[in-house]
Amino acid sequence: MRIVPNLDLNFDFCWIKRGFSAMVKIPSRWHPEKKTDDEADKSDEKPDTKDDVIGRKRNIMYFHNENVAAFHYGPHHPMKPFRLAVTHSLILHYNLQHYFTMVEPPPATYEEIIAFHDTDYIEELMAGKWRVVPDEDAVDGTADDVPLFDGVYDYCTYYTGSTIQAAKALNCKWADIVINWSGGLHHAKKAQASGFCYVNDIVIGILELLKHNQRVLYIDIDIHHGDGVQDAFYFTSRVMTASFHHYHEKFFPGTGIVKEKGRSDGKHYSLNFPLREGITDESYAYVFKPIVRSLVKFYDPNVIVLQCGADSLGSDKLGKFNLSFNGHGECIRFVKSLNRPLMILGGGGYRLRNVARCWTNETAIIVGQDDVISDIIPEIDPYRKCFAPEHYKLRPELPHRFRDANTREFLDYLIGVAEERMRKIEHAPSVQMQPLGLIEETLIEFMRRTTKERRLAEELKAQEALLLKKPDIVNEYK
Ligand SMILES: [Zn+2]
Repeated sequence: MRIVPNLDLNFDFCWIKRGFSAMVKIPSRWHPEKKTDDEADKSDEKPDTKDDVIGRKRNIMYFHNENVAAFHYGPHHPMKPFRLAVTHSLILHYNLQHYFTMVEPPPATYEEIIAFHDTDYIEELMAGKWRVVPDEDAVDGTADDVPLFDGVYDYCTYYTGSTIQAAKALNCKWADIVINWSGGLHHAKKAQASGFCYVNDIVIGILELLKHNQRVLYIDIDIHHGDGVQDAFYFTSRVMTASFHHYHEKFFPGTGIVKEKGRSDGKHYSLNFPLREGITDESYAYVFKPIVRSLVKFYDPNVIVLQCGADSLGSDKLGKFNLSFNGHGECIRFVKSLNRPLMILGGGGYRLRNVARCWTNETAIIVGQDDVISDIIPEIDPYRKCFAPEHYKLRPELPHRFRDANTREFLDYLIGVAEERMRKIEHAPSVQMQPLGLIEETLIEFMRRTTKERRLAEELKAQEALLLKKPDIVNEYK
């Protein structure tokens, strides 16, 4: 089925920056060129050549609202929104903005946020006061994880606004790949803050995508289980969630075992790959690539959303993996090579300088410049001092702090789980979805029909009136 591009966009306050110089205001309504069916079919082909992976130019949009970096969770809290300012600066000083369209999106509105969240909960967030203290029993999770700092609601509107506009850009086919490093807050629940997350921008973004796409594949490579996204779509086959995370009963959030697989219509559409500590680049690629390839083949998503939490890097303050910048980036490169519309989001990441390195390197991978840019942080970057401990390198080696407990047998078992699950699901499940074009055609047809019927009725009425006036004619027809 062909999905008609979104015509109901709200880009009123949305500014596009092309490179560094020109800024263009996007019109509040715009009419993208509709692709022909042939073009739509071609865009679904999945060539996996080197050119496609790093060379071919795809239309990329980068969403960043600089206000998001100005908030503070508190002096001892590991989550530092400031990391987004350092990341953005590094991306600009590597001149990567010449390869994408930069968008400064508006904050999310209250109505957009309650598309998923409970209104009472959001009002608590706006008032800065919890009615019920967040789950004290969660593994490693306490109310201290989600402090109500000054402007917490505004903070949420900035990162969520970027994700929503990114989804709209994919819906209307303005972009093939969209990036929002401030998004990816995957733990927030419908009526509960959790794990440094208050508003789940991913769920809201996917809901936006579902207005114009049959199937969305959500992949999560944060070290923590993507529980908030999984819970939101646990009962539907329209979103497949696949989370690659560290699992231990005492590791936050303490969920994400293989047996959590979805329910009702969503049975088998939630996949969990609970990895053991210390996983290396080689082991990660060994398990990630065949599984993701298989999911894309069988589920045939219209869009992929990739949460790129940087806490799965080695030496993260809260993490327990041994991934290098190249190993983490390889997941992004691989998903990009599958050639589907793609939304790239941030997530966790608690060693500030490594978060900036990771997402800058991955931006370079997305725009095909990772082989070109220097491995030395540009001297003009005002935050350069942050990178001093590792000799100002973009991709320094990271220490292996944990022994890799993921045996080959264990990884094969996880691959087998995915294969078995794919055998149980319907290939490319589809739902009865009324594309906008069809609605319009139906309306036109309805109006045409009613007009015709009205005209007929009027003619009949006129004939009746005529017959009443001429009783002898009436008699002729009796
Ligand atoms: Zn995390």
